[in-house]
Amino acid sequence: MTVFYGVLLLLAALLIVLLVRTASMKPTPALHAEPPRVDPARARSYAEKLSAMVRQETVSSRFDPDRSKFERFQVSLPSLFPKVFAACEVAHPGAGLVLRLPGRGASGKEPILLMSHHDVVAAPEQGWEHPPFSGDIDAEGRVWGRGTADTKGSLMCELQALEELLEAGWQPGADVYITSSCTEEWSGDSAPAIVAYLKERHVHLGMLVDEGGMILKEPIAGVKGRYCVVGVLEKGYGDVKFIARGKGGHASAPGRNTPLPRLGAFMNDVEKHSPFRVEITPAVREMFSRMAPNMSFPMKLVFANLWLFGPLVKKLMPAISPAGAAMMQTTCAFTTAKGSDGLNVLPSEAYVTANLRFIHHQPNEESLALLRKRAEKHGLEMEVLYQDHPCKPVDYQGAPFKLLEKVAGEIYPGYGVVPYVMTGGTDAKYYGDVCDDALRFAPIEIDAQQYASIHGVNENLYAAALPPAVDFYKTLLRAYDAN
Ligand SMILES: [Zn+2]
Repeated sequence: MTVFYGVLLLLAALLIVLLVRTASMKPTPALHAEPPRVDPARARSYAEKLSAMVRQETVSSRFDPDRSKFERFQVSLPSLFPKVFAACEVAHPGAGLVLRLPGRGASGKEPILLMSHHDVVAAPEQGWEHPPFSGDIDAEGRVWGRGTADTKGSLMCELQALEELLEAGWQPGADVYITSSCTEEWSGDSAPAIVAYLKERHVHLGMLVDEGGMILKEPIAGVKGRYCVVGVLEKGYGDVKFIARGKGGHASAPGRNTPLPRLGAFMNDVEKHSPFRVEITPAVREMFSRMAPNMSFPMKLVFANLWLFGPLVKKLMPAISPAGAAMMQTTCAFTTAKGSDGLNVLPSEAYVTANLRFIHHQPNEESLALLRKRAEKHGLEMEVLYQDHPCKPVDYQGAPFKLLEKVAGEIYPGYGVVPYVMTGGTDAKYYGDVCDDALRFAPIEIDAQQYASIHGVNENLYAAALPPAVDFYKTLLRAYDAN
C-alpha cells in the first residue's frame, strides 16, 4: 500500500511540474501582432508592377529547350525598374538573370544576394476564379495569377527595394546581387549556371535570401499568432527503383509471390514500418520551443515538455502532420510503377520507383542501406537512379539569421521568427560553394488559402503584403552594410 501511495505521490509531483512549466510559459507578442499599416496607393502601384510580371506566361518544363519567353520577361523588367537596370551590371548565365550593383568596396564585406526564380509551374485553367495569367487585381486588393507567390512576388519586391534605395542616392559598401533563375521548378541548369558564373568571378557571398518560408498566421494548426518562418535546413533528394523479377507467363495459373504482390507487400511494409531514424534535431526543437508559448492547451503541455514527451511526439507526428514528420526523418514516397504490357500476362519484371528526401541526421548511405535490406527481404532488387545530399545547415544562432530576425522585428513588430526544415527543394541548394548562410525566406505575409495555392489553383497575394516586403529588403540591405 505504501508503494502504491508513493507512486501516486510521484505522479502527482510530475503532473505539477508539467503544469507549472506549461503555465510559466507566457504567450509572446506574436499572439496579438497585427500586420503593418500600409499606404493603399503604394500597395496599388506595387500590385500593378507584379500584375505586369504575372501576365507574362513563364511556365518552364524540362521538355522545352526554348528559353525565349524568359528572355522576353527579362527584357520587360527595365521599364518597371529603370534605376536598377541603369546602375547594375547585367548578365544572363543559363538564360537566367544576374544583377550586380557594385559597392564602394570600403566595408571589406562579402556581397549580399537576394534571390528568386521567375519560371512557374503549369496552370490548368479550370478552377481559377481569375485566369492564371490575367494578373487581375480584385476589389479586395488581391493580385491573381500563377507565380504571384512562387516567386514573382519576391522578385518584384527585391527589385523595387533596390529601385527605391537607388532613388534615395544609396550606394552600398559591399556588392549587392540579385539573381533569378528560369528553371527552378524542375531543378534545371539555370541556377547552376548562375553559380558557375559567380564562381568564375571568385564571388563568395556573406549572406543570401531565397524563397522558402514566408510569413504565416497560425503556421501550424494550434499555434496562434504571426510568424516569419525561415528555412535553415534543406533536405537531400533521391530517386530509387525497386525491381521484382518472376517467371512471367500466362495469368490463368499465377501461383504465389509474383512480382506485383511482392512490390505491394514491400511498399506496405515501408509505409507501415518506416526504416528511417526519427529525431527531434536542435533546429526542430528550436522551432517548437519558439512556438510553444502560443500553443493551445494540450498541445502546449506536450511541446513545453519535450524532455518528457519527445518520444511520444516522434511516434505520433506521422499521423498528425506529414509535413511535421518530414522535418524529423528521411521520407520515401512511391511515385511510379510498371507491370507487364498485357492485361492477361504476368510480368517477368515489374518495378516501382520511390522519391526520397534525405534528412541531415542520417547519412544517405545509411538510409539507402536500410531500404535495400527491406527490399531484399521481399525479394526485390534496388537501383539508385539519382541522389544528392542535404544542404549544409544554416546556423540559426549565427549573424545572418540574427540580422534577419532584427530586420523582421523592425518591419513586422511583435511577429515571431522561427527556423524550420525545408521539406521541398530550392535553387539555394546549388549555392553551397559560394555561400555558407543561405536563408530560405520571402518576407511576404500570406494566408492559408494563398499558401495552399502555390503549385495549385487560385494563386494570389494581397497587395497590402507587398509594401512591408519591399521595406524588409530595403532595411536588410542597409542593415547588412551597417552591421
Ligand atoms: Zn515552385
